[in-house]
Amino acid sequence: MSQAIALEKDIKKQLKQAGYKMTPQRQATVAVLCANQTTFLTAEKIFMLAKAISQDIGLATVYRTLEILVGCQIVTKSASNEAGIIRYQLAHAHQLLLVCKNCGRVIDLDNETWQSITQQIQQQVGFKIQTAQADLEIEGLCANCLKQRQTKILT
Ligand SMILES: [Zn+2]
Repeated sequence: MSQAIALEKDIKKQLKQAGYKMTPQRQATVAVLCANQTTFLTAEKIFMLAKAISQDIGLATVYRTLEILVGCQIVTKSASNEAGIIRYQLAHAHQLLLVCKNCGRVIDLDNETWQSITQQIQQQVGFKIQTAQADLEIEGLCANCLKQRQTKILT
C-alpha cells in the first residue's frame, strides 16, 4: 500500500470517528491533499485538482470539506503574506519516528497515535506540542532487538 493511500485511509477513519461521512467529493478533496503533502495549496487550486477526480464537486463543497478537515486537525490552514491568501496543507503525517539504535529500523506512528500522545502531554503538563512540520526522532530499541537482548540476558 502506498503511503498516500495509507494516509487517505487514516483520514477516512478519523473523519468517521468525528461523525463525518466520506462522500465522493470529500474523498476527492482528501486525495488531492494526500497527493500534495509537501505543498501549501489554496482552496481554488485544491478545487481544480479535485474536479479532475470528482467532476460534480463545487468550490463551496471544497471549502466546507477543508473547514471540517481543519476542525479535525487533519489539515492546517495558514494565511500567508500581506495578500492574505489562505493556504491549506495536510498536517504532517509522520511527526514521530521511532528509530532503533541497534538495527536501524524506523517505525512511524500514525496521526491518531501522535494526536493522543500530544493530547496526553497537554492534559498532564499543560504543554501544547506544535511540531506539525518537522519530524521528531526518538531513539530506542525495536521489539525484535528488545526481545533478542532479553533472551541474551536470560541465557
Ligand atoms: Zn531493532
